[in-house]
Amino acid sequence: MFACTGYAATAADAPLAPFGFERRDTGPEDVRIDILFCGVCHSDLHQARNEWRNTIYPCVPGHEIVGRVAETGSSVTRFRTGDLVGVGCLVDSCRTCQSCRDGFEQYCENGFVGTYNGQDRHGRGITFGGYSRAIVVDQAFVLKVPDNLDPAAVAPLLCAGITTYSPLRHWKVGPGQRVGIVGLGGLGHMGVKFARAFGAEVVLFTTSASKIEDGLRLGAHQVVLSRDPDAMARETGRFDFILDAVAANHDINAYLNLLKRDGTLVQVGAPEDPLPVSVFGLLMKRRSFAGSLIGGIPETQEMLNFCGEHGITADTEMIRMDQIEAAYERMLRSDVKYRFVIDMATLPAVA
Ligand code: NAP
Ligand code: ZN
Ligand code: ZN
Repeated sequence: MFACTGYAATAADAPLAPFGFERRDTGPEDVRIDILFCGVCHSDLHQARNEWRNTIYPCVPGHEIVGRVAETGSSVTRFRTGDLVGVGCLVDSCRTCQSCRDGFEQYCENGFVGTYNGQDRHGRGITFGGYSRAIVVDQAFVLKVPDNLDPAAVAPLLCAGITTYSPLRHWKVGPGQRVGIVGLGGLGHMGVKFARAFGAEVVLFTTSASKIEDGLRLGAHQVVLSRDPDAMARETGRFDFILDAVAANHDINAYLNLLKRDGTLVQVGAPEDPLPVSVFGLLMKRRSFAGSLIGGIPETQEMLNFCGEHGITADTEMIRMDQIEAAYERMLRSDVKYRFVIDMATLPAVA
């Protein structure tokens, strides 16, 4: 074991604070990574504050990790010391069930191991995430980062990127389709970029008038203010596909009504409480309401390669580790542009 420092929440109402803990030594299949940058996902906030009611404390959040390989285990073939690598929301899974064999480790039938707040398969502890100096991960769950991209702006691709890329690919979004993205936060801004890159006509729905210009710059063909009832009414029945990336409770039926016959609304945002769904909104036009969870390891690598080829990264705002609570408060006010990324060099040397 080696001593590591990080930032942890110790209770739902306690601010994150420096935290010392131990990581396992590098096993034969392991890659030890010195973390350079970690993105700040709204899920980190949900979990740190126990909004999904499953947090185990102390909790070290962070699952948008980019760093350099510091050490490799004796059986590691795919990585070398010094490589730029990424780790997303998964650090392990059973690897034998049908979903794992299909490369959908996020749907592991025996439960995937989350990068934080997960049941560690290496011992009986809980996993600690990327708000930390270093992490040790099995090589099967480590991603290669394209070397032509800014590493800090790659970090958010590991969750916000794959969570939007995966459903847009699965539902085959592309040319000839009118696609809505709801909420211009970390996920939503990647959704806009990918939907545009895949050739769809992209419409952003936002509650923030201040984000209209950015929405267009990021790739939307049109921006609709979702608080304007007339603007919403004009969009009724006009969408093939809508991706909803809103972190808070909101009226999902307002978006179901915007789908064409046989259209699909995919929910990736994960508010803490159930969303009431009007069945008539679904059955009148044979609409579908679905969900999607991050993405598996093969598809995450595919997404990173796609981003390398097309020069796609997140729009980021760099923060110091000790600014994390202020960043959370801004997220709660929808004041993100469009992903906070922590510079891990600002982590205190000793907790
Ligand atoms: P974020 O950066 O905070 O963005 C959320 C955006 O939602 C806000 O910027 C805002 O955009 C909009 N919004 C916020 N409150 C709203 C309200 N009351 N009504 C309508 N719109 C509102 O969050 P994120 O990191 O993108 O995460 C979004 C959600 O996805 C979170 O719940 C997170 O836990 C979840 N998530 C799910 C997965 C998955 O696998 N499915 C993966 C990662 C994250 P506007 O200002 O444009 O309205
Ligand atoms: Zn996330
Ligand atoms: Zn499995």
